[in-house]
Amino acid sequence: MHDSPALPLQRRLETAEILSIGTELTSGETRDTNAGELARSLTEVGVEVTRLTALPDRRERVESAFRAALERVDLVVSSGGLGPTPDDLTRESIAAVCDEVPEVDPALERWLRSLWERRGLPFSAINLKQAWRIPSASTIANPNGTAPGWWVDRPDGRVVILLPGPPSEMRPMWQATLTGRLHERGLGADRQVRTLRLTGIGESAVADQLGDEILRQRNPEVTTYARWDAVDVRLAASAVPASADQPGTSAAALLDAVEAVVLDVLGSHVWARGTTAWPEAIGAELGRLGWTLAIQEVGTGGALGALFRDQPWLLRGESLAAAGVVGRGPATAGPAAAAGAVRAASGASVGLLLVARPRAGDTTVSVAIETPTQRRRERATAFRDGALGHSRAALSAAGILLRVLRTEGVSDAPPG
Ligand code: AMP
Ligand code: MG
Repeated sequence: MHDSPALPLQRRLETAEILSIGTELTSGETRDTNAGELARSLTEVGVEVTRLTALPDRRERVESAFRAALERVDLVVSSGGLGPTPDDLTRESIAAVCDEVPEVDPALERWLRSLWERRGLPFSAINLKQAWRIPSASTIANPNGTAPGWWVDRPDGRVVILLPGPPSEMRPMWQATLTGRLHERGLGADRQVRTLRLTGIGESAVADQLGDEILRQRNPEVTTYARWDAVDVRLAASAVPASADQPGTSAAALLDAVEAVVLDVLGSHVWARGTTAWPEAIGAELGRLGWTLAIQEVGTGGALGALFRDQPWLLRGESLAAAGVVGRGPATAGPAAAAGAVRAASGASVGLLLVARPRAGDTTVSVAIETPTQRRRERATAFRDGALGHSRAALSAAGILLRVLRTEGVSDAPPG
């Protein structure tokens, strides 16, 4: 909405802190999801995030948190406290830190009033606060709400970004800022992160196969995370600057090299990259093939249907209790035939039957799949029984399905 004021200093933004402002956060009424999202996206572009702080709606606390963060890092990003009510104090706090007085910005006021006019509502003066601006701030447009964000330039080149609290408003404003002004500004050191998502293997086996040496090295750094839906192997590297006797190496080159080593050992388990989730990965394959899916699951408490909930490509999902199938239907007709029956009855392109049974504390998993071109039957063991076993049986079925789909429609599909 405003051009940024002339900058005395162009400082590269290499370190950041994140402040989450709102008493609902410090009292535990609302879970702070903004800080993690902001931290992740900053880390991905090479900014080192050194601290996440949640603060109540108390002016002196917020003010001193901004002051302290501005002593430590190049970039401070806050969310929350930009609403119209008296407990929304983020603007006042940063104005005090900058020793500036907020004034109503005429262009912002016109924009705000037009929002109320459009809805046919009288504009009440309390909202004017959202049209405030201090001289060192430019505003960040909010397409989904009434509180614009602020981009504040400090004389020493540091930057403060204020975003509203509601995630649906915060996210698009942050994305626009991150890929726009922040990117232009020169963000982070040359540090890059890649995540490989693995299935069909536990975290300790991943660590075993990678070996101590690779897990202990600092640059590139290799870390493993056991998530509920995958074991993630995260690769992070910082560029090595050129020295007198050696040329430099970019972060991407370091990552390429370490990724090749990891893929050599664990490549067969990698099913996705980044933050891709199972429905996305399977949806992409089904979309590529123009196919739909029907599932029947037995003894899993509906875990696979829950994993694929609301996906437009899931034509039918049926969940049977284990007791209900004894002596009838799928189990007796043979799983492969049963997957065909699931497919035929639904009219979907692919039929999948998942049968899970508790055995000796674990869960045995049987998966049968019929596509227009092939029938497949696989077994696996999911660690633990009960709800955890059900959820892992569903992930195991998703892994098998994804592997089968990836062999479809490619000219030299690998056998079996
Ligand atoms: P505010 O900008 O302070 O008016 O924020 C309004 C609403 O946004 C709050 O009531 C919360 O529901 C939500 N919110 C604020 N901060 C966060 C956060 N850090 N994480 C998730 N939701 C938040
Ligand atoms: Mg608030």
